[in-house]
Amino acid sequence: MTASYNDCVSILNADLHCHSTVSDGTLSPEALAQRAAANGVELWALTDHDEIGGQARARDAARAAGIAWLSGVEVSVSFCGETVHIVGLGFDPEDPQLVAGLGQTRGGREARARDMAASLAQVGIHGAFEGALTYVGNPDLISRTHFARYLVEIGVCHDTPEVFRRFLTQGKPGFVPHRWAGLGEAVRWIRDAGGIAVVAHPGRYRFSPTEEYALFTEFTGHGGQGVEVVTGSHTTAEYQKYADLAIELDLVASRGSDFHSPTESRTDLGKLPFLPGKLSPVWEALDARIVRPEAV
Ligand code: AMP
Ligand code: MN
Ligand code: MN
Ligand code: MN
Repeated sequence: MTASYNDCVSILNADLHCHSTVSDGTLSPEALAQRAAANGVELWALTDHDEIGGQARARDAARAAGIAWLSGVEVSVSFCGETVHIVGLGFDPEDPQLVAGLGQTRGGREARARDMAASLAQVGIHGAFEGALTYVGNPDLISRTHFARYLVEIGVCHDTPEVFRRFLTQGKPGFVPHRWAGLGEAVRWIRDAGGIAVVAHPGRYRFSPTEEYALFTEFTGHGGQGVEVVTGSHTTAEYQKYADLAIELDLVASRGSDFHSPTESRTDLGKLPFLPGKLSPVWEALDARIVRPEAV
């Protein structure tokens, strides 16, 4: 069976993927909640990279903004020589195994950042570690995005997409390979904490069809249940491709902008096509975990 965009859609404006200053976004959890509400988002999750330190603020800010909320995180995973992102939704943010696992995943980011700076220095870009740090909101979470902002600031590149074309990616200056969490670990941390694991923006990985099949087979084998179908990273053709995959593999479907910044992100909070109606939205499976704003 094929889900088509001519079919009915799930009309809930859910945005279950974005980043705050707690990872590599430029807005606070509070500003994101307000922006989401202003954009018509009805159900929101903050999914900072490898970090759930912003969840309590996000929950309170969602309530203040009058929108429903789910806990969220985006875990960095190493799989087949690529970095894959697994979004976790609706988990208990105080779960000790999840908190410890994410702590372990974040560890090593500072050493990696120093190596990235050393690699950039070899092509004549000096002071990048200190420069990137000026953009970091959470000292535990220095990321490539912070380096990208610094390279734009000093005029080496015009914008962050140009940075990622010329630097910081495999084979380019500033790239340092890193070992993130295992796929099975990430899925287990999320599931054991009562949440649902979702493959984030699958269209972004440079996998062969065989590798992509292996990713989803291993993911579901470990208990992963969802896939992002509608994301700011996908083309219209990829919405269709991953809608079909969700049906084929019996996965629940998610929707999220991956918003990072008003000046850097192409897709604003909530400004995405709806999920095709034939898919099972992840939020239906997480109904009991949704924190709804108090009725007035
Ligand atoms: P890190 O977790 O330090 O490896 O940084 C990954 C982050 O870099 C992603 O979450 C994006 O925010 C950003 N990023 C990676 N590739 C690109 C790209 N091609 N264009 C813009 N941002 C990117
Ligand atoms: Mn990011
Ligand atoms: Mn991602
Ligand atoms: Mn993301």
